Amino acid sequence: MPQREVDEMPRCQSCGILIPVQEMVKEHKGKPVIVCSDKCFRIYQTYWYPRYGQPAGGDS
Ligand SMILES: [Zn+2]
Repeated sequence: MPQREVDEMPRCQSCGILIPVQEMVKEHKGKPVIVCSDKCFRIYQTYWYPRYGQPAGGDS
């Protein structure tokens, strides 16, 4: 059974770790946000988003 390559692993948009399995895809402001846990999603909402906004291709 082929293993997932590192390049194909999603990265938590909060803490930045690679997520080999069971990444969580949440929705924030209408966009998907990949995180490794609910805790990271909260950090994304309360810390990263207000400071850095949309990572790329922002439409506003
Ligand atoms: Zn995380």
